[in-house]
Amino acid sequence: MTLDTPVQFLKGVGPARAEALAELQVRTAGDLVEYFPRDWVFMPEPIPIARMEAGKKVSLMGLIESTDYHPHRRKPVFEIMLADGTGYCRVLWFHGGYLVNQLEPGRHLLVHGTVSRYKHMLQLTNPRFMILEGPRADAAEPFSGPVYPASGKLPAWRIKKIIRTNLALLAPLMPELFVPAFLKKNQLIGRAEAYAAIHNPADEKQLARAKRRLKYDELFLMQAGLALKRYHLRHTTPAPEIKIDEHIDRRIRKRFPFLLTDDQNQVIAEICGDLARRIPMNRLLQGDVGSGKTVVALYAALAAVANKRQTVIMAPTEILARQHYDSIERFLKGSRVRRELITGGITGGKRQALLGRVADGQVDIVVGTVALLQSDIQFADLGLVIIDEQHKFGVHQRATLRKGSNPHCLVMTATPIPRTLAMTVFGDLDVSTIRHCPPGRGEVITRWVQPHHRDAAMEFIRQRLRAGRQAYFVYPRIDADTENDDSDLKAAVDEYRRLKERVFVEFRVGLLHGQMTAEEKRRTMEAFRSGELNVLVSTVVIEVGVDVPNATMMVIENANRFGLAQLHQLRGRIGRGQNKSYCFLFAETEDSEAVSRLEMMTRSRDGFEIAEHDLRLRGPGELFSTRQHGLPDLKLANIIDDFDLLNLARRDAFALIAADPMLSRPDAAALRSELIRRFGDTLGLVDVG
Ligand code: ADP
Ligand code: MG
Repeated sequence: MTLDTPVQFLKGVGPARAEALAELQVRTAGDLVEYFPRDWVFMPEPIPIARMEAGKKVSLMGLIESTDYHPHRRKPVFEIMLADGTGYCRVLWFHGGYLVNQLEPGRHLLVHGTVSRYKHMLQLTNPRFMILEGPRADAAEPFSGPVYPASGKLPAWRIKKIIRTNLALLAPLMPELFVPAFLKKNQLIGRAEAYAAIHNPADEKQLARAKRRLKYDELFLMQAGLALKRYHLRHTTPAPEIKIDEHIDRRIRKRFPFLLTDDQNQVIAEICGDLARRIPMNRLLQGDVGSGKTVVALYAALAAVANKRQTVIMAPTEILARQHYDSIERFLKGSRVRRELITGGITGGKRQALLGRVADGQVDIVVGTVALLQSDIQFADLGLVIIDEQHKFGVHQRATLRKGSNPHCLVMTATPIPRTLAMTVFGDLDVSTIRHCPPGRGEVITRWVQPHHRDAAMEFIRQRLRAGRQAYFVYPRIDADTENDDSDLKAAVDEYRRLKERVFVEFRVGLLHGQMTAEEKRRTMEAFRSGELNVLVSTVVIEVGVDVPNATMMVIENANRFGLAQLHQLRGRIGRGQNKSYCFLFAETEDSEAVSRLEMMTRSRDGFEIAEHDLRLRGPGELFSTRQHGLPDLKLANIIDDFDLLNLARRDAFALIAADPMLSRPDAAALRSELIRRFGDTLGLVDVG
């Protein structure tokens, strides 16, 4: 038998069960050993009810005296009274309606869970349970041990039985990846031993050791994959050297009417270090909106120009591309640097002529949207690609521009990336961070506004509008949707009319949403930027990088419907000038996660703090599927809870790849085939061996 043997040929599995297993993505013997339990139960011997204590994990065995079901509570609950001759215990299951017909008075029951105190009674909540034929004392065994995720066709106990029957043959098939000295140094148990123990641990200690080993493997393999990706990117086609001396540095800095901040200087130093080498830069520049990333990007572009190389700057939308272009224009007024904006509006002969000049090297800096620039553009000598991804990561997009030559690549993002994600999802990139915004930014005050305070908030806004400030009103939807009348979801179009015709009659109100044409959007934005409009009503389209320093107020309607990252992005539109800004979160909610998000927003303006909080609230799985980014999913490890192990695995994996980038040493053979098994041939390993 090998790891590739179809499960159908294992003991206890026939065609029907093989089919049921396939639905659980288990097709081979290897899949089966890696079908991990979702939980493990170590059932202690049942104790008399009289001896239970709050906080302890216990098993109890007794008779169901009475049952009671309360379906109409906010959380429906099914409860029983269990008796064993020494005392009574209240046992309850929330949402336990399905138990009504199973747990009837007079039955013997075994329960296992943690004792809690409610008022002055001890009780068990949502315990595991087993209905007994009679008052047996040896009843504990059958439901202690691993608990497998089941399906309708295949109950957990059947899966457990199949795995247990085959485990002695299967576990030893898992090859050891590391030499004994390495295992010893990292206090890891053997791999086969770990697989045997994860499915059948003798006790919690052994389980913990098995988990640690297998989590380490997952994290190590992921990091080795990233290290290999990074190595190949850096060592295939070289990039041009872009050198910066004092003279060039001085000339570039003269373009900025301000001193660069410490953070900007730091990341510029990091970028220049990369550019000066023939190894292509692959760097992520992260910093909140308004932190000064564009200025850093322009510095890098001008460094390339000084070295007679072309730069392309790509933005996700045309509004943003234009905005980049405009701000570059401001800094480059009177300079001989040749720059061009490519838009969808430039077509036919004009477009051909423009592309021709780019291909001939007559343009130094080209700005446009990702979509436009990826189509048919050719460069004479592309030295640097700058991608402003804002918060829409398209990690794979950047590969397409690299064709033949290998320019340096800088990706800018306004989404603060928590450390755990920087090490995993973006683990093959170098990361530079701008933490602090340039000085002279006004304070931003954020308030969660309950319905009875809305009028006061609107009055406050009116006064500031009179004083010449501007305001954003953001709504979750475009149109009121009549069919699916979720009437508390304010629609931008309706609210636009209401604000314009009834609330802010003395002001000029504009509307911006995603279904308008690029030209309509541009005109509306321009009218708001120039101050012609006082109020801009919009859907979330404005979250993508709009810069109007005089806009100091923002109302976000139904703020509870937005995620933290999105709220933070939206709020980034204000607080860009010197004046104090105000963000009003209109929301009526009791949902605890929504409340937690709203409170976080009123408490913090630090994007990193908010991102970490978001990651914790939602968990890594929801925020970023690793598979989406070409990494295998983690089954046991969790990048938040296992952060220390992740650190260790990352250090080890990168050190290994640095020492043996092709994994050609005999010691690394097993690791090499395991990496190929997991990542396929994407790592450039296959054709080397
Ligand atoms: P980001 O691209 O990170 O959103 P920008 O580079 O567009 O930020 O900068 C936001 C604003 O701050 C711009 O108006 C820019 O001119 C200004 N700015 C950037 N760096 C500085 C600085 N060091 N001192 C003062 N103002 C700065
Ligand atoms: Mg910007």
